[in-house]
Amino acid sequence: MGVGFHTDALAPRGLSLRLASIIAEALADESARQDSANTFQFAFTHSVIRGRLPRSDRAASVLFERAFASRQKIVLLLIMTKADIATVLTDIGTLLELKGENPFKIRAYQAGARVLESLPEEELTQRVAAGTLGEVKGLGEALVQKITELSQTDRLEFYEKLKASIPPGLVEMLGIPGVGPKKVKALHEQLGIDSIAALQQACLAGNVATLAGFGEKTQDKILEGIRNREAYSKRHLWLEAWEVAEPILAGLRKLPEVAQAEACGSLRRKMETVGDLDFLVATNTPGPVIEWFVKHPSVKEVTAQGETKVSIRTEDGIQADLRLVPPEQFVFALHHFTGSKDHNVQMRHRALQRGLSMSEWGLVPAEGEGTAKEKAEKLGPPHDITTEAQLFQKLGLAYIPPELREGLGEIEIAESGTLPRLLEVEDIRGVFHNHTTESDGHNTLTEMTGAAQALGLAYLGIADHSKSSVQARGLDEARLLKQVKEIRALNESGAFHTHVFSGIECDILPDGQLDFADEVLAQLDYVVVSVHSVFKQSRDDMTQRIIRALENPHVTMLGHLTGRLLLEREGYGVDTEKIIDAAIANRVILELNANPYRLDLDWRHWRQAAAKGLLCSINPDAHRMAQLEFFKIGVGIARKGWLTKEQVVTTYTLEQMKQYLAAKRR
Ligand SMILES: [Zn+2]
Ligand SMILES: [Zn+2]
Repeated sequence: MGVGFHTDALAPRGLSLRLASIIAEALADESARQDSANTFQFAFTHSVIRGRLPRSDRAASVLFERAFASRQKIVLLLIMTKADIATVLTDIGTLLELKGENPFKIRAYQAGARVLESLPEEELTQRVAAGTLGEVKGLGEALVQKITELSQTDRLEFYEKLKASIPPGLVEMLGIPGVGPKKVKALHEQLGIDSIAALQQACLAGNVATLAGFGEKTQDKILEGIRNREAYSKRHLWLEAWEVAEPILAGLRKLPEVAQAEACGSLRRKMETVGDLDFLVATNTPGPVIEWFVKHPSVKEVTAQGETKVSIRTEDGIQADLRLVPPEQFVFALHHFTGSKDHNVQMRHRALQRGLSMSEWGLVPAEGEGTAKEKAEKLGPPHDITTEAQLFQKLGLAYIPPELREGLGEIEIAESGTLPRLLEVEDIRGVFHNHTTESDGHNTLTEMTGAAQALGLAYLGIADHSKSSVQARGLDEARLLKQVKEIRALNESGAFHTHVFSGIECDILPDGQLDFADEVLAQLDYVVVSVHSVFKQSRDDMTQRIIRALENPHVTMLGHLTGRLLLEREGYGVDTEKIIDAAIANRVILELNANPYRLDLDWRHWRQAAAKGLLCSINPDAHRMAQLEFFKIGVGIARKGWLTKEQVVTTYTLEQMKQYLAAKRR
């Protein structure tokens, strides 16, 4: 049976293919039906089925159920969704701008991408099939032809040729903050710069500052951007690392020689960024496992290969180590390669106080001749320790979840037996702060609601941008109130079980005033306030600006407190402590923005802030359907911040949330 299937990308970097291959593998694996069902559940929310099938969730789910029931092998065929096609059109606009094409032509592609996004997926399929795409306002003949070609063949010759005609270094330069197509074009034409390395040299020589429209300030900013890029390139967003690690881990666990497998290190501790990957496997026969690992499709090169350790670099430029240990050593190695340096130092110290030497090899008497490894090999492992919980218990500690193993006091608290019961993914009932095509989102209100329902969420909070965010096509009063009506109508229609809360991501203006008058804000279910402009204010000014906004009685929550973009730019200067206190005083919730680029407020602040009484809302800030699931990454960060269910408002039931918001509005 052939099925047209495509996963809507979570992140720009190729999740779709990888996820699809996971699903393909899981579905094909008849022996692990239970696992397949889970993988499918995860994957399905990302997917739109099309091709010979109608593009509705219902049809797809019926089909998959049938396939599961009959355990048929499903062949997956990747086909582009409207979001993919829109991305291609936007790319074309950027590439044409690099080439210095006619601005009208450029704008036609950018506008076309927007038109496409606001078109329901089914309508696109029908119109492509019927040849009536040209009837849609805003799609000219050239665009219709290109969308049709992409939709039917997944490829576009025009795009391929355009890409090939531009030096790759120019496209790479676009990745430097503040360097857009116009600047790249000027640098290329006037200084012959065609790579980041050449750009850096030209900046250091002071040549860039002399170009019209650049100046010293811009030159310094570009240099800083290039330097950050180098520093950042050694680390990866947690999600990117997970996307690489997950299929490898799943594959390792399926090998008959493997008793246990885990990805340790900062990935397991749910750090916001991850350096290298650390795979650990329990096995008595390392040979075949190593053979499988080095041949994995995501491996680009093997950098070191021994009998019990292999190092590789993946296609995505991530380094990974695989360590193979005998099953009885696994738990010790697992703990050793998971904990942060500080955590491990403290644990070893604790063991020594009890006359024990703790290492990746085992837990052995500290006294006597020989290294820990030699002793472990001679004595064999303690038979009463086969799980991490038992290992902690042996040292008089309650089980410490991996997220807390940072050496920040968790050992003392575990000793006293008062570790909190941390928030779980299953505790989350809804998500706030999500965008639609009304501003800069890529899916419509209905699509976002359907996706939230597919995730089992009881409520979805919409918060598009406000009018001052012009670039994000922020809503003015009229458009906002129209959206509020649409949301009410959608709720009343009963089309979805998921309740939609109307809201706004309201800009905090440079002086701390809000982008909308109180009478407008009063008509919404909730209000998120965020800083999106004038980041360069002094720390004091920025702090005052935000506090002033929090004092507005209509404000429900503060969005991405520091404005940081991980591995891209630091946050603006702001007194986090003062803002936390102001939020508590004004009964404003603080957002934990769960977008993998933000994860803001940082987990390092949450434990103390929540202890003072600050409430957290885990907000995906989704700009497309698949991104709603970011809340799961947010839960990992919340756990790192020691947060419990009670401290996170999105664990409230729909009724509790309605009451909470109503009480706040009084
Ligand atoms: Zn924002
Ligand atoms: Zn947002």
